[in-house]
This record gives sequence, C-alpha cells and structure tokens, in this order.
Amino acid sequence: MEAKNKILIKKIVFILICLVIISIIINLNCNVVNAELIQLKDNSPRQMMGYILKTKGNEVIVIDGGLKEDEPNLLEHIKKLGGKVDAWFLTHPHMDHVQAFMEIVYNTDIKIENIYVTLNDLNWYQKYAGERLLEVEEFFKILQNEKIKEKIKYVEQNENINIDNIKCEILGVCNPEITVNAVNNSSMVIKMNINKTSIVFLGDTGAESGKKLLETQKDKLKADIVQVAHHGQNGVEKEVYEAIQAKICLWPTPQWLWDNDSGNGYNTGIWKTIETRKWMDELGVKEHYIEKNGDTTLTL
Ligand SMILES: [Zn+2]
Repeated sequence: MEAKNKILIKKIVFILICLVIISIIINLNCNVVNAELIQLKDNSPRQMMGYILKTKGNEVIVIDGGLKEDEPNLLEHIKKLGGKVDAWFLTHPHMDHVQAFMEIVYNTDIKIENIYVTLNDLNWYQKYAGERLLEVEEFFKILQNEKIKEKIKYVEQNENINIDNIKCEILGVCNPEITVNAVNNSSMVIKMNINKTSIVFLGDTGAESGKKLLETQKDKLKADIVQVAHHGQNGVEKEVYEAIQAKICLWPTPQWLWDNDSGNGYNTGIWKTIETRKWMDELGVKEHYIEKNGDTTLTL
C-alpha cells in the first residue's frame, strides 16, 4: 500500500513539474517582443504623420515623419535607435508627411538604406496637385539629391518587402486614374505583418482610392491595427474600416482636429473627425492611440 502511495506521489510531483515548465515556456513566448511601434507626436499647430518601427533584430523602419517642426523629435528617436534607417516609406509628397525626411537628408548624416515611394510623373502633379503643387515640386527636387538618389525604390502593387522579421505588403500605389483629391488619393497603402499582428497604414487615402482598395484588395485588408486615413477626417469611407475590422486605431491627429475645433470649441470645425470617431465606436474599436497625447510606443 505504502509503495503504491509513493508511486502516486511521484506521479503527481512529475505532473506538477511538467505543468510548471509548460507555463514558463508559454510565459516566455508571451513576453517576446517582435517589434516596437512609435507613433510620433505633433510639434506644430498643424497636422502631421510619423511612425517608427524597431524590428526584432533592431532594424529601423520609418513611415513618413511629419513637418520641418517635427524633425528634431524624429531625429532624436532615430539616433536613440542607432542613428540609421533601414527602410523609409513615404506615403505621398505632402509636406506634413515628407518635410521632416527632407530636413534629415539635407541637414544630417543619418544613413538611409532604402527609400520606398510611389509617385506619378511630375506632369500629372502639375495637372492635379492644385494649390499644393509647390510641396510636390520640393519633394521631386530631393529625389535627385546625390546622398539618396540611388536609394529610391518605386514600389509595385502587391510587392512584398521583408525587413528583418517584418513583412510589408504594398496594397495601394499612386492611382494615376484618380484625379479628385489627387495627391491624397495617391497615398501608398502598406500592410505590415509582425508575427501574429498585422497593421494597415492608409496614409492620407481618400474616399476614391478607399473604394478602389475595397474592389481590389478586400481579402487582404483585415488587420489588427489600422492607421486612420487622412488624420481621421475626410479619408476613406466607413466600409473600408468595416473590411479592416481593426481592434486598435492609430490616429495621426492633433488635439484641435480630434475635437473638430476651429477655435470656437468642440465640434465647431469643418472636419469629419467626430464622424470617424463614431464609426470606430460602432465598429467596436476599444483602443485608440492619438498623436495629440505625445509620442506613444506600442510593443508588438
Ligand atoms: Zn496628411
């Protein structure tokens, strides 16, 4: 009888040890950091967009970067991460996205390995960019800069770009046939897969290119995290967010725009941020990271 008890006790101890080992392994896996995503704060009274990703192997990816005023903050982050950028995605040639990048190229010795763009011909912008043509022309000038001109890569729709453990797929390119709200609608749309987490960056995609995304990429749109289009106002329609089904929203949105405040208080402006916020509530989004709240790091 005593011998039987001893065997039983041994078996229980063995099972308990196995359970402890299994829970340690699960816990270790849960604590693995696959990437860090920083949403950059705004540093001027204007809207901007900038994101930095640090991969598992410490490679650095930047998406846009913001205005001239946002450059010191961006530069500080890049320096902290080792002082080089492995991949820089520029969604479209508006200054609230590319001016900080231009400042870094012109005024610093930060090494940039690859610069990914999607662009129409300059003639196209001269026809359709409207009053913001000057910004586009400024950007075209920097493409000829000796420091970077060999680093520029024009992305293709559905192209896959792997940067360390981050898989980037290009879902949207420059859409030359869309001539309404043309420069915003020419935004690159990038889906990133990081282990089991996916993020869709919509840039400043408007309603028209959003519709095209639904028509051509609907199966690929589903993602855990979405960067809300065009700073959260007047971007894509609700149907695009319905297809994405994100649980987390990234808002490149300053306080005044978040509140649709033209200077006379909450919801006194002409922007559609409040409507977009309502869509996200209806779609059950629980987590929001908003530019107005300062630099924010998400561990993925
Ligand atoms: Zn913008």
